[in-house]
Amino acid sequence: MTVTLTGPSTSEVRVLIIAGQHGDEPLARQAVASLVEPGSGIPAHRLNCQLAVLSDANPDGAQAKTRENAWGLDLNRDHQQLRAPETQAIHHFVRRWQPSLILDVHTYPPRRKRLLAENLVYAHDLFLDIPSHPSLGLRSLNQLEKKLLNPLLRRNDAAGYLAGRYTLFTPGGRIRHSTPDVVDARNGLAVRTGVPTVLVEGRQPTRRDRHHSRGRTLAALRRACRTAIAWAGRHGPWLAQVQQATNGLHHVALGGRYLDAAEPLVMPFLDARHRTVREVQLPGRYAPKVVPQRCVKLPTAYAVPRSNQALVDTLAWHGLLPRTFALPQPACCTTYHIDHVVHSERSRRAPRELTIRSRATGWEPELYWRYPVTADSGRLLAVLLEPASKYGLARDEQIGLRWQAGQDYPVLRIETDA
Ligand SMILES: [Zn+2]
Repeated sequence: MTVTLTGPSTSEVRVLIIAGQHGDEPLARQAVASLVEPGSGIPAHRLNCQLAVLSDANPDGAQAKTRENAWGLDLNRDHQQLRAPETQAIHHFVRRWQPSLILDVHTYPPRRKRLLAENLVYAHDLFLDIPSHPSLGLRSLNQLEKKLLNPLLRRNDAAGYLAGRYTLFTPGGRIRHSTPDVVDARNGLAVRTGVPTVLVEGRQPTRRDRHHSRGRTLAALRRACRTAIAWAGRHGPWLAQVQQATNGLHHVALGGRYLDAAEPLVMPFLDARHRTVREVQLPGRYAPKVVPQRCVKLPTAYAVPRSNQALVDTLAWHGLLPRTFALPQPACCTTYHIDHVVHSERSRRAPRELTIRSRATGWEPELYWRYPVTADSGRLLAVLLEPASKYGLARDEQIGLRWQAGQDYPVLRIETDA
């Protein structure tokens, strides 16, 4: 994997563009690579920020024309566990280079079963989306929508590309934007670092398309990237302030609930024969917002059993390392006792019902690694480790953080202001 760096090194605004996490999306790779092509790319002196471009995030997948990497892993579902060397490398680079804004570029298939049943095909040249995990804080999430997402959509629209917020239809009949899960780059990188990470999806032309071509998708993706780069260059202080506010939160929401909108969603679609674009009022419950739930106060540190190597390794890939540090006194250690648990049929989900009770406990410090909560680590530690976290590591059987009724949860919280 090669990252190309360009732009004025004196600028404090840094934009990272990632493409090709999915190996079968060549147009995304091509559009992003062309931004820094010698001769035809954006000349360095025209940039108002530093730019890092990783146009081929999954080289093995690109060669094999597969969505997954050589190990069969979908890299854009690996940003929580970081099992793949490719995602580990991306996170490592992000922590080192500290971008102000990240774009994650893909292409999307416009023909979906659920929509074809209604005789509809997606018409958008571009879908964009922003982070939505509730731990980022409602204020920051709302600001990202108003000040970052909406202006980018408007500018791409004004340039002649039909641009909208990424919109999905669940089998249960709900219409929503991307998921609040932390497995993709959009949320995974944002939850880790507080850096706004924008998903960019260009339309993958189909054989039946009349008006969309590969050239149009390439141009739309290039336009979306250039618009975001220019926007970032003008909003450096705002980007820094949003990241700081997000990282300064002392209370973190570990889950959320979709809030249905009062109005149904109306958006443009092609008819299934790709003849005309028309506005369609969609049947189904439109739920554009996630209301934060399950808020916890961050402790001073988390204590993780040294015996759980899989968990220690996963934290290490995120750059979260145990530290030996003296605890200010008085320190209080609490554990969660699991009173009641009902597992969901789908194993990768948080349990359907979970009743936990926090209580003070004694502990043997030599059996645990301590992970201090800092502005840079607290939110992710809580999201990964707390048992009530909807998208935490406890849902992953390989990590071995199990919920068992009548037992204590293995991770402890250390608090010093009790
Ligand atoms: Zn993709």
